[in-house]
Amino acid sequence: MKQRKYARETPKICFLMRRRVLLIYTGGTLGMVRDEQSGALVSFALDDVAHQLPELRALGYHLDAITPIHPIDSSQVEPHHWQSIAHSIGEHYNNYDGFVVLHGTDTMAYTASALSYMLDALAKPVILTGSQLPLGYPRTDARENLTTAIELAGATDANGQARLPEVCIYFDYRLFRGNRASKFDSDKFQAFQSPNYPALAEVGTAIRFQDRFIRPVDGPSFKLRTGLNSGVAGIRLFPGMSKSVVVPLLESADNRVLLMETFGMGNAPTHGWLLDALRQYIKSGRTVVSVTQCRGGYVDMGRYHSATALREMGVVSGRDMTFEAAITKIMWLLGNGYAGFELEHFISKDLKGELTEI
Ligand code: ASP
Repeated sequence: MKQRKYARETPKICFLMRRRVLLIYTGGTLGMVRDEQSGALVSFALDDVAHQLPELRALGYHLDAITPIHPIDSSQVEPHHWQSIAHSIGEHYNNYDGFVVLHGTDTMAYTASALSYMLDALAKPVILTGSQLPLGYPRTDARENLTTAIELAGATDANGQARLPEVCIYFDYRLFRGNRASKFDSDKFQAFQSPNYPALAEVGTAIRFQDRFIRPVDGPSFKLRTGLNSGVAGIRLFPGMSKSVVVPLLESADNRVLLMETFGMGNAPTHGWLLDALRQYIKSGRTVVSVTQCRGGYVDMGRYHSATALREMGVVSGRDMTFEAAITKIMWLLGNGYAGFELEHFISKDLKGELTEI
């Protein structure tokens, strides 16, 4: 069988039209087919997706498509896949007005968050989308999600500038900042929500952009900063946590940052063993970050007594970041050489619109 080349592919020209959008296909339900034997959905190479949607011609865009990685279910995505997607955007950055990344929904919010840090001074739209049902299924949401994502990727303002110089997720008639969105529903078409930041656009018969929520370009020239380091551990607090399970994780030398999903506004049980283990962890030169396990809201370690000890020992507030935005931010900061005080400073800073500073 002929080997398929996935890296640095020359884009295939689908239509010759005006605004130029590059479609980057990575897998996910949108391009899946049912496996004859198991009946489960598996990825296949979705060549020429644009040919399956002839209505795209009406947009008048020039559309090309590439497949930079072997198409996968997004539960298999790893940081090196984020780097491949970022490199594909970097390689083709000057030749296109916008980019659409077709991606599975399961880890789409992680990929969108990671890309938001890696694509520095981004001045063009990068729109991630996917679907809950494969293209070609009755009642599929793939057609609408894909068609509108492409339209958004080519959208301009009155001066002909990109309307959305951000990494976004478009799903079920709403456009979100990518590093503010989370997958909330494994079944409904409205799969994503952005509890701490408003939608950037709502789509009905017209596209209603919320310009005041769209982030301006944050630098003079686009740059790739793709360093990532996975030396981070994540734990979600729950009543009944066991010392014998948690302490070995904190004692392991492999992680440099612990991302802790705390209760409510950043509260934690005040067991002696948990506080001692966290104190020890911080004393060894490592960092503990707190995000809330609530769907919305933020961490404020000054509000309740149950968070005072964490604040006093130096736990860093992740404020209103999603878990996805926080964990990828930590990987990106570690991968770009940040450590100690500088690392902790930037975790609590708004880098790419992922966090509300107070
Ligand atoms: N498991 C699929 C994936 O994330 C689900 C989807 O695409 O909606 O790749």
